[in-house]
Amino acid sequence: MKNPDAIVIGAGIVGASVALSLTNAGFKVLVIDRGAVSSGTTGAGEGNILVSDKDPGPELTLALRSRDLWFEMQDDVGDTFELEAKGGVVVARNDDGPLMILASEQSNHGVTIQKLDHTSLHELEPYLDQRYQSGVFYPQDSQCQPMLAAAHVIRTVVQRGGAFISQAKVTRILVNQGAVTGIETTQGNFSAPIIVNATGTWAGELAQMAGSHLPIAPRKGFILVTEPTKKYVFHKVYDSDYVANVASSDADLQTSTVVEGTRAGTILIGASRERVGFDGSMNYEILRRLAAQATSLFPVLRDVQLLRAYRGFRPYAPDHLPVIGEDATVKGLWHSAGHEGAGIGLAPGSAALITDAILGRESFMDGSAFSPARFEKVSL
Ligand SMILES: Cc1cc2nc3c(=O)[nH]c(=O)nc-3n(C[C@H](O)[C@H](O)[C@H](O)COP(=O)(O)OP(=O)(O)OC[C@H]3O[C@@H](n4cnc5c(N)ncnc54)[C@H](O)[C@@H]3O)c2cc1C
Repeated sequence: MKNPDAIVIGAGIVGASVALSLTNAGFKVLVIDRGAVSSGTTGAGEGNILVSDKDPGPELTLALRSRDLWFEMQDDVGDTFELEAKGGVVVARNDDGPLMILASEQSNHGVTIQKLDHTSLHELEPYLDQRYQSGVFYPQDSQCQPMLAAAHVIRTVVQRGGAFISQAKVTRILVNQGAVTGIETTQGNFSAPIIVNATGTWAGELAQMAGSHLPIAPRKGFILVTEPTKKYVFHKVYDSDYVANVASSDADLQTSTVVEGTRAGTILIGASRERVGFDGSMNYEILRRLAAQATSLFPVLRDVQLLRAYRGFRPYAPDHLPVIGEDATVKGLWHSAGHEGAGIGLAPGSAALITDAILGRESFMDGSAFSPARFEKVSL
């Protein structure tokens, strides 16, 4: 493509969503990736689009809008990525006080909740361990197949006049007098006045190529996948401990299980969290822990075979918030990265925010909490 209006680096779900949003706003967009579509963390994501695990604040506001935008994206692109508003059920093993307080606070901020007693909980999830006494149902929690979503969204961008180049690694971001002019890649140079860095866990490297700085690090996670089985799990089900683990900045291992069925009949059991750099080695102790937590929620899963386990690296920022906005020092360089364990859920909302900011128009929320400038002096 000659003279794109904008180049999006990264063909994960975040880059795909930005590319579609800019295309629909009238931009001619070139998407570039060093691999194939979803060859980064999106290919390892579970597909949860959650509002239930967010505390009131900017991330929840973004998550609520983003969740609705997922359904608008489906209307735009077609029903091609298994999007389903299946709802989440959060249960508390012991004291349900903190869960009920969080649910009430979330409900004051636009989240739909339904508190569940023993009877209504087990009506929703008949195979859940009977020892669980109470929970909260979040009907807005949804699910998609993120790899299919990124692929179909990028295909739509190309159909609407954009372009996608795979296997092209960006090796330099070209900057002249404090503003981007283009990129150097293993497949040649490309010029554009707007470059969007949507490289997820690698966004810090890309920022560095432009002489800037973003403290993004990998936070590793494993997921287990069972054989296709009878429908034992009807919603996304997780223990309320999960919310504390997501918010933790501890580098050590945390496991708290989210269990959910897929349209294919498999059950996904995720996920662990640990900061061990890009060490991709298998850890059987983690797999054992995840399996044990899943069977303590659903004892019936003891008789279900595991098919496989896989892992990915979430893009972690020190304050657990995504980085969305123009670079603090380089004009025309925009970032949409660092979404950690929520990048699938937050992708369309982040894309809307960045498109509105590029166009200088008012957005659905104040995105200043996500500004790249907040990291000018922060290292990992
Ligand atoms: C185990 C696990 C479970 C998860 N579950 C969920 C979930 O249920 N819900 C949810 O919302 N999130 C989940 N996440 C997080 C989610 O997967 C990520 O936040 C999201 O995929 C990030 O998307 P992205 O597009 O920013 O990054 P990526 O998908 O990593 O895309 C970045 C792209 O940039 C490319 N790239 C990097 N460097 C260069 C370069 N120099 N030149 C060209 N291209 C480059 C890469 O090849 C890659 O394709 C999970 C993550 C893990 C690990």
